Amino acid sequence: MVSDQNDSCCTGCQNTSDAEIYIPKGTLASDIVLFVETDDGFRNIVRNRANDIAELNKIKDTDKFLEKGFQILKEEMGIADSPIKLKITNDGNEYDLITNTVSINRNWAGGDKAELFGAMAHELNHFFQWKEVIRNLDEDSPMYSAVIEQLSSTEVGRDTLLYVLNKYEDTPVTQLSKEQANAYAESWSCYIEPNEPDKPVDRLSEQYRKYKTQPVEAEAFRRGGIVAEEYKKLFIEI
Ligand SMILES: [Zn+2]
Repeated sequence: MVSDQNDSCCTGCQNTSDAEIYIPKGTLASDIVLFVETDDGFRNIVRNRANDIAELNKIKDTDKFLEKGFQILKEEMGIADSPIKLKITNDGNEYDLITNTVSINRNWAGGDKAELFGAMAHELNHFFQWKEVIRNLDEDSPMYSAVIEQLSSTEVGRDTLLYVLNKYEDTPVTQLSKEQANAYAESWSCYIEPNEPDKPVDRLSEQYRKYKTQPVEAEAFRRGGIVAEEYKKLFIEI
């Protein structure tokens, strides 16, 4: 018999044996709010995790910073259970749907932490764009068929496909979401690379301007930029 010294201040909680502990049911699930995939949703990632980001920012090792930051982003985006991977490199940033991998150049923007965090948000936004294509488009859409065929051909691809289909099973497909997915698919199907093949990226070139303003990139740059700016605001000394 466990003696309880505190029954005058708290009854019903601290003075019960294990067999009597009440386990509430159902409240956990209702606390999970699906990530809102809007500019405000991206801004709120930083606002919701300001304390964690203050700690994150102290990490000196860039790779550790990226790994921890990626985890925070996945958690806030509601995809912590996703098989999506982070690959840290010395060249470009990208999201590859087929390998379900976000690649980030550890030297991006001179290693600026706000910009690196924003770059990861940018690439994860591309995941959300593909997710919308997968769950909205009809089977007769050429982009849908191509995506399903490619994903189905590898184990990683099949995992990604299953994850998206299961995770967003209850998210309704609406006229609006279909239109948005069609716009993403159209943009992906005529994707403009930032540079000509075998030529370096020239940020002042017409090619780069077209790359940056095509719909899938314009959205990712805007949202990644919002995240980076919001991150910087946390560290402005007043
Ligand atoms: Zn991009």
